[in-house]
Amino acid sequence: MKTPDPKDGPGPGNLEQWDLECIWHPFTQMMEWEADRPLVIEAAEGMHLTDVRGNRYLDGVSSLWCNVHGHRHPAIDAAIRDQLKRVAHSTFLGLSNVPAVLLARKLLGIAPPGLQRVFYSDNGSTACEVALKMAFQYWRQIPRPEPRRTLFACLREGYHGDTVGSVSIGGIGLFHATYEPLLFETVKLPAPHCYRCPLGLDRGRCSMDCAAAAEEILDRHEGRIAALVMEPLVQGAAGIVVHPPGFLRRMREAAVKRGILFIADEVAVGFGRTGTMFACEQEGVSPDLMAAAKGITGGYLPLAATLATAAIYDAFRGPAAERKTFYHGHTYTANPLACAAALASLAVFETEKTLEVLQGRIAFLARELDRFRGLPHVGDVRHKGFMAGIELVADPGTKKLYPAESRTGARACLAARRRGVILRPLGDVVVLMPPLAMGERDLSAVLEAAYEGIREATEL
Ligand code: PMP
Repeated sequence: MKTPDPKDGPGPGNLEQWDLECIWHPFTQMMEWEADRPLVIEAAEGMHLTDVRGNRYLDGVSSLWCNVHGHRHPAIDAAIRDQLKRVAHSTFLGLSNVPAVLLARKLLGIAPPGLQRVFYSDNGSTACEVALKMAFQYWRQIPRPEPRRTLFACLREGYHGDTVGSVSIGGIGLFHATYEPLLFETVKLPAPHCYRCPLGLDRGRCSMDCAAAAEEILDRHEGRIAALVMEPLVQGAAGIVVHPPGFLRRMREAAVKRGILFIADEVAVGFGRTGTMFACEQEGVSPDLMAAAKGITGGYLPLAATLATAAIYDAFRGPAAERKTFYHGHTYTANPLACAAALASLAVFETEKTLEVLQGRIAFLARELDRFRGLPHVGDVRHKGFMAGIELVADPGTKKLYPAESRTGARACLAARRRGVILRPLGDVVVLMPPLAMGERDLSAVLEAAYEGIREATEL
């Protein structure tokens, strides 16, 4: 590759070069990144991303699980432009703003019943962090305080973000182990990971023994747990681990029975991703606290919300001198542009009947995923709504993993990219997470590229 001349300005060659010289990418081994030419995105339209060299790619992971209605949706673009004519940002500390107020009402209208207050922040990690701090403080401020409730129960292999509090309740060794000495103590519960059952049982032939084991662990910490936090229905970053039906409801009931608060992290699964607006709906669960982010703006701008019940909100009310205030807030909290995008995205859900149309596409995706099971190195195909994970293994008979250094999942995704589809794996799980608006033709192209990419990485 010819070294570009900086005097040429921001052409493709220089942009790629300057990325290599200046940027440190998230979740990326930079030594490997530096060995390749970076793919620099310049534009997007609908389901496609375009790089600075004019190559087009289907967005197979919704720009990290957040795009909903496609890129450059006219209604969302217009809403942001319209808001820009009024104000781009003003603080939410001591002031309010129009789209944030309107959005809060909308969110409470679609959220599981019982959630009555919206606390804004700007990403999924902070939405979870806020929920943790609220739960912790709640027990100290209720009329009959229970200050011994300082622990959080969470699922193994859970993922709730990268800030230190969210990492504390996480359980993904590769991401989290390094920070162990920094983290607060948690009570880890077995995840219902049926392909690799932590109790060594067979899928479909157990009686959800992992839930019973979790309940037993909760009992061991009677009166000490502030909240149980989990990703409802699907543990995304764990490798699209789809929970058996009833697990969510059972954990919710286990929390109620023990007087523990229940925090649902809907960051990845919210806004239609599992086929309903929120995953909790599918098991009739109303959490005490709910974290939402990613799809909230249709995938346009950083925004998050932590929703709370009136009981939690009330525990923070009182004369200022009592110091019950929730001392937490970020500079860009409730950013008006982001809130305007979120309002527009929720309106598109209605005008385009996004969730209704989605049901047929979910069925199509389920049918098409079936053929992956025939590939010799596919160990498991997990699917819920518009999210899927295809787990690649060296030996499906024994479920033996590939050695990490073979980077099989990453190679499969790179092979898919050469076929015009952007995918990003989780280890050796190839993740498909298309925008909810992706139609069957584009879905077929994503599936075909994933299929051929997996074949290329595992068979050839
Ligand atoms: N919770 C869940 C379930 C997530 O999947 C993620 C991100 N993938 C987060 C929290 C963190 O969100 P963010 O990256 O916006 O901080």
